[in-house]
Amino acid sequence: MWGYEVAENFLFMQVTFCRWYYGDATRREAENWLLSTPNNDGSFLIRKSQLDYEQYALSIHFRDDVRHYRIVKKGDLFINPSHRFGSLLELVEFYQEAANGLVVKLASPCINVQVPQTSGVPQVVADEWEIERNFLELGEVLGEGNFGKVYKALWKGKVEVAVKTLKTDNMDKAEFLTEAQRMKEIRHHNLVRLYGVCTRNQPFYIVTEYLCNGNLKVYLSEGAGKECGQVTLTNISTQIAEGMTYLEEKKYVHRDLAARNILVGRNNECRIADFGLSRLTQDDEYSPKGSGAKIPTRWTAPEALFNHKFSSKSDVWSFGILLHEIISKGEIPYPGMTKDEVKKVIRGPGPPMRQHPNCPDRFYEIMQMCWRQDPKERPTFYQLQCDLDQITDYGQVSYENADADRTNQAFQP
Ligand code: AMP
Repeated sequence: MWGYEVAENFLFMQVTFCRWYYGDATRREAENWLLSTPNNDGSFLIRKSQLDYEQYALSIHFRDDVRHYRIVKKGDLFINPSHRFGSLLELVEFYQEAANGLVVKLASPCINVQVPQTSGVPQVVADEWEIERNFLELGEVLGEGNFGKVYKALWKGKVEVAVKTLKTDNMDKAEFLTEAQRMKEIRHHNLVRLYGVCTRNQPFYIVTEYLCNGNLKVYLSEGAGKECGQVTLTNISTQIAEGMTYLEEKKYVHRDLAARNILVGRNNECRIADFGLSRLTQDDEYSPKGSGAKIPTRWTAPEALFNHKFSSKSDVWSFGILLHEIISKGEIPYPGMTKDEVKKVIRGPGPPMRQHPNCPDRFYEIMQMCWRQDPKERPTFYQLQCDLDQITDYGQVSYENADADRTNQAFQP
């Protein structure tokens, strides 16, 4: 037993010195790293499996996508039972010689050149959120939101940030400040990060991190996202589910979850934005007092649209619609239908939208769960995150069908 442990530890030490071993990396991190330059076809890494920490997974860059293979550990190690190895090192050397059934033979270890997008940005601390306005140089207009224009800006002449302004004639000053206050309290890598505010003088600013690929709808329909494969689309969906899981745990209801409110940075990193409509709920449900709130019909759950009952479960409904936007690369939900027609459909018993031709079955099953009429029967974001994770983590990890069509492969249960 002792000898066995020593051998195990020795092998582990050997492995941890290997440049391809990224033990604790998640599947999404592996994808983000492998898809960024200078990694190319055959770049690879080995990590521990998120589903079973005793097992490993091999992730390989292949044709601007990432393939994952399960490495089974049953006494020895193997991907294909007919080729077994005593260590990961031997396994790697074998697949570096030839593809031997993988999509491509292993080339060089993954190079992780992730640079934080935000280096050098003012490190805001609890009560020091006020940013010196003179340090900000406003540049191009990035878009126009609920409160006013959003500018790209430079902080202290060197750090790119986004500045959200309040229209001077806008009456919602209190709401604007509430949005800033709310953003201070929530911090997660899939939510847009607040750097600070300028609220001593008019116009008020909210200063956030800048995301170079803009909003997800435009990114997928007109930008570089047009080229995203199914694995990346699932990765994007999972990131959003992860951010929403955090909001759900904090009992925040977003109320406007849609592709236009997701921002995309480098390597398809996604952040949920626009908390302008979100509310911290006392219980699990929030009903707006006034009737003046604008409700985005095509994204809104029936109980929210007709009875003004917003909850994390109405966000889950919107998430189902957002999945449709993702899989259709930015198509408007319910294409060709008027708002009144949409209202009729979402009251109906069946799923409100048909399966898009590009939508794999498993993905559509997840959407249908989001669209259950009874909010209690809809999954939580945590469940959705796990379901989406499984689609690609072990879904595509099948040696036997490694050469199969990429779309089918990525979504096998
Ligand atoms: P919003 O007011 O948040 O709805 O923003 C309006 C538009 O401005 C968005 O749809 C984006 O295209 C753009 N935008 C907002 N915030 C950012 C940001 N932090 N980084 C890059 N683009 C942004």
